[in-house]
Amino acid sequence: MKTWQCDIAIIGAGPAGLAAALAAASSGKQVIILDDNPRPGGQIWRDGPQVTLPPLARRYREAVAAQPRIEQLSGVRLVARPTARSLLFETAESAGVVYWKKLILCCGARELSLPFPGWTLPGVTGAGGLQAQIKHGLRLDNERVVVAGSGPLLLAVADSVRRAGGEVVALVEQAPFDALARFTAGLWRWPDKFRQLFSLGFPRYRTRSQVIAAHGERALSGITVRRHGAEQRIDCTRLAIGYGLIPNLETALFFGCSTAHDAVAVNRWQNTSVTHIYAAGECTGFGGSELALAEGKIAGYAAAGNAAQAKTVFSERARWQQFANAVNRTFALGEHLKAAATPDALLCRCEDVRCGDVAQENDWRQAKLATRCGMGACQGRTCAASARWLYGWPLPQPRDPLSTARVETLCQLAQDAPPGD
Ligand SMILES: Cc1cc2nc3c(=O)[nH]c(=O)nc-3n(C[C@H](O)[C@H](O)[C@H](O)COP(=O)(O)OP(=O)(O)OC[C@H]3O[C@@H](n4cnc5c(N)ncnc54)[C@H](O)[C@@H]3O)c2cc1C
Repeated sequence: MKTWQCDIAIIGAGPAGLAAALAAASSGKQVIILDDNPRPGGQIWRDGPQVTLPPLARRYREAVAAQPRIEQLSGVRLVARPTARSLLFETAESAGVVYWKKLILCCGARELSLPFPGWTLPGVTGAGGLQAQIKHGLRLDNERVVVAGSGPLLLAVADSVRRAGGEVVALVEQAPFDALARFTAGLWRWPDKFRQLFSLGFPRYRTRSQVIAAHGERALSGITVRRHGAEQRIDCTRLAIGYGLIPNLETALFFGCSTAHDAVAVNRWQNTSVTHIYAAGECTGFGGSELALAEGKIAGYAAAGNAAQAKTVFSERARWQQFANAVNRTFALGEHLKAAATPDALLCRCEDVRCGDVAQENDWRQAKLATRCGMGACQGRTCAASARWLYGWPLPQPRDPLSTARVETLCQLAQDAPPGD
């Protein structure tokens, strides 16, 4: 099995990971950056046939590619931790081990989906999921699309839908109008965000509203929206729905890092509870790409022992942290949303487990043992987060192997004696 040695390994090549890599390499460190996507950029700078990457994304990608101290490993699935300071990964063709002195976790966030009757019908996707499909070339000509859930991402998705030829027939937001009005009025403090918001427009925006059911025989034909107790049916061919972003925590938990408020806990140097592990970007809490970039730079400099440079980025981070706080306050999810997860609504679509089958369980492990919930193809990537939000279960601790792996990789792992830390 091929092995690599480096000063600093970075997991995740989104804005945070790219910024961390450049900061660490410019401080003289050898860096390896690993990501499960075929190309760097993470979620916001996801590449594809219908994508024109923004100049900032191109600059970061080019700078990373041109930096001789940075090696990029793409299409990588993290499998195991052979020693305290190494990681085993697989690609489509092979496997390898990276030995590192410091690790920076830049694992990003994923969308929170909440179950409701009909959410598994063809035509219903995550909001970011539909956006990713559009970036990969999907056209939506003659499609009637509802974008729903919560958060500023919905506006970006609605904009992508229009550019792909679709009609946005409604944008259904759970946050109340007065919270949105306060948020918009405070945007003068971040002029770029103000301009961005108004460039996206407010297409058929319905506030304090929730999709409670999706209808159709073989594919989506319409949805029911509840607002102030009144229900309305809207005909549509697609529903893109997501309730904001939640940090990806599995990798941090796997490496023994503590969490706080459902995010990786870090100090002002972006250092986690494990001395030689740092974290940056949305795995430390939702904040947008600007905050991810600032945190990535600090983590990269701090991991490289360059505290003086790290400090120069503190004010930039503070500015974008304030923006993140305003977003999180505005789009906080209401408890009433849980009512849509009726007992007969599917929770785990891989194993056909309904909400009513697990609602009485005490935690994720018990739910899995009793029902096979989360044991299908996606390994609970969607339903574990939904169940945790719905039922308040504790975070499950991930174990080796972190992802599905080929038998020969696991055999090789067992044969190779660990070289020690
Ligand atoms: C689906 C989705 C769509 C979004 N669309 C927009 C948008 O249109 N506009 C906008 O302003 N913001 C958008 N955001 C928010 C935006 O992505 C973030 O603000 C920003 O990208 C955060 O940067 P990051 O580096 O922290 O994480 P990310 O950009 O999420 O990058 C994390 C990277 O780490 C990889 N990764 C995670 N764990 C592992 C592992 N164990 N092994 C290997 N690789 C791993 C992920 O695949 C990903 O490539 C979106 C977020 C999501 C989840």
